[in-house]
Amino acid sequence: MGVSGRLGLSAAVVLVLMMFLPMVLFPQKSERDSLLSGIANGKTRVLDLSYAINDKLVPWPGDKRWFEAQVNATVEKNGYFTRSFWMLEHYGTHLDAPIHFPPGKATVDHIPAKRFFGPAVVLDVSAEGAKDADYQAPASRVEEWEKKHGRISEGSIVLLRTGWASRWPDAGKYRNQDAQGKMHFPGFSADAAKLLVSRKVSGIGCDTLSVDYGASEDFAVHHLVLGAGLYQLENLSNLSEVPEAGAFLVVAPIKLEGGSGGPARVFAVWQVGSNEVRK
Ligand SMILES: [Zn+2]
Repeated sequence: MGVSGRLGLSAAVVLVLMMFLPMVLFPQKSERDSLLSGIANGKTRVLDLSYAINDKLVPWPGDKRWFEAQVNATVEKNGYFTRSFWMLEHYGTHLDAPIHFPPGKATVDHIPAKRFFGPAVVLDVSAEGAKDADYQAPASRVEEWEKKHGRISEGSIVLLRTGWASRWPDAGKYRNQDAQGKMHFPGFSADAAKLLVSRKVSGIGCDTLSVDYGASEDFAVHHLVLGAGLYQLENLSNLSEVPEAGAFLVVAPIKLEGGSGGPARVFAVWQVGSNEVRK
């Protein structure tokens, strides 16, 4: 390249700098005010919807082992600290992959990553749940939400707030079993599940042991939702603090090859202020 070529290149570099420098120094308002950039300056709230994992959480009735951890190396002996652990795939705050119930197919590692990010729709049935532990949220509850906040958009994640988290981690109160051992806690109805599948949501979740109500024997919601290729989140914490509309969910399950599900870290993020819609 000759002298004139180098000069031409320098001019081009200056031109490009002049074009982009203002964008860097003075970002667009929407960029400055975006959900993610607000995390650092406190305009965006980040809430962890997962329980810390230990051996004292509430397993599904009948499970004999659920979590064990052992120390493999200590700072005193080895100069560093490590543990190994064993746990059920469905224990604590976790994700059910489609393959968990037929006719679902995908294992947890095959759920497309983009489906782990979506608007959070919170259906509050805590009043109904307090009155009737066998309450199954009907499709009309979904329609009521839509009347207030607009049609549920594709890729949303719909969470059922039953208030059951206040019983966690008391296994007796959380499972609420009767003399026959049948559990009693609220859940989604099959009709609500069908409507949500038709809305093309990415997943549904709840603050109980199961998205089906506790006394369910056919697990109709599991078959419908997982069969349609959606995922489920169970034993979510802190749902009482998530606004009914306006929050965004980040779901991070373990990428366990071949897994029927697994422990998941779930975060809700939302801009504090105008678009926060509480009940
Ligand atoms: Zn599960």
